[in-house]
Amino acid sequence: MGSHSKYSKRYPMKYNKFNLAKNNKEKIINEYDNSILYNDFVVNSLLYIKKQYCIENHEVIATAIYFSDHGENVYDENDNVGHDYADVLPKANVEIPFIVWYSARYQSLYPNKLNIIYSNKNKPFITDNLFHAIIDINDITFKLFEPERSIFNKKYNSNRKRI
Ligand SMILES: [Zn+2]
Repeated sequence: MGSHSKYSKRYPMKYNKFNLAKNNKEKIINEYDNSILYNDFVVNSLLYIKKQYCIENHEVIATAIYFSDHGENVYDENDNVGHDYADVLPKANVEIPFIVWYSARYQSLYPNKLNIIYSNKNKPFITDNLFHAIIDINDITFKLFEPERSIFNKKYNSNRKRI
């Protein structure tokens, strides 16, 4: 359930770190922040397991990508909470974290790919292009691959229409 509402149900009490609230609005923001803190713990734990595996098996060429399926408007805009909107989408709903991880072996084999990843890191991207990005970062050959749709490619077109 990630950080979907009800936020207070998305983390164990150990992660109830943000708990000083003067009103219900601050309480909800705190609960959301706690859910993000716990989600960070989960993502970090998964990446740690992968990293340890790659250290123990140093020949492994591995990448990992993490992103949330959408953001949450937690009083960022419109004095509202949630992610269901019929008209105007708040930025908080559509601008999401995107993490790329790679193993040491990947780093040594693909220095040019890493340069492109770093040079494109601040470009806008929409996850409907994720298929092309995954194919590209993993150096998979596929006849329908479109390099202009991969954020991991020097031909990436960040001007393509997005929501
Ligand atoms: Zn969702």
